[in-house]
Amino acid sequence: MRERTLTIIKPDAVSSKNIGKTLSRLEKENFNILGIKWIHLTTAQAQGFYHVHRERPFFPSLVRFMTEGPVVVMVLEKENAIADLRRVMGATDPAQADPGTIRKDLGTNIERNAIHGSDSSQSAEDEIGYFFSKMELV
Ligand code: GDP
Repeated sequence: MRERTLTIIKPDAVSSKNIGKTLSRLEKENFNILGIKWIHLTTAQAQGFYHVHRERPFFPSLVRFMTEGPVVVMVLEKENAIADLRRVMGATDPAQADPGTIRKDLGTNIERNAIHGSDSSQSAEDEIGYFFSKMELV
């Protein structure tokens, strides 16, 4: 089934000049880019995006990290986009991620892990709506 998912090239990957590497990896996997934005998240925007984690001990640190510099937010589309993106990203902790995954290659630790990807069809829909209007997706 053709699906849409949301990805974020996180501030660590942007500041280490890994936007290009990330994009070429995603293009090689045949994702279509339906929308792309350059955003420096405010604290309130990062808190809203990660609200499911608001009770976790790492939440304040995660919000600080996600607001430390600009990010690239994209809507991607392909067959099985949600599971495929998670596979290409690798495990949350780069140390546990499979060889060849984006997090293994570009991540630093369990927080500074280079990329976000929606983890279900409901979260993909919610996250796409958080950043993009229908008109912006082409
Ligand atoms: P994901 O779906 O693989 O991104 O992982 P989660 O939804 O569980 O966590 C969201 C984000 O919070 C991760 O991508 C990390 O940036 C961060 N994170 C997750 N677990 C931890 C943790 O144990 N410690 C810290 N500092 N950050 C974490």
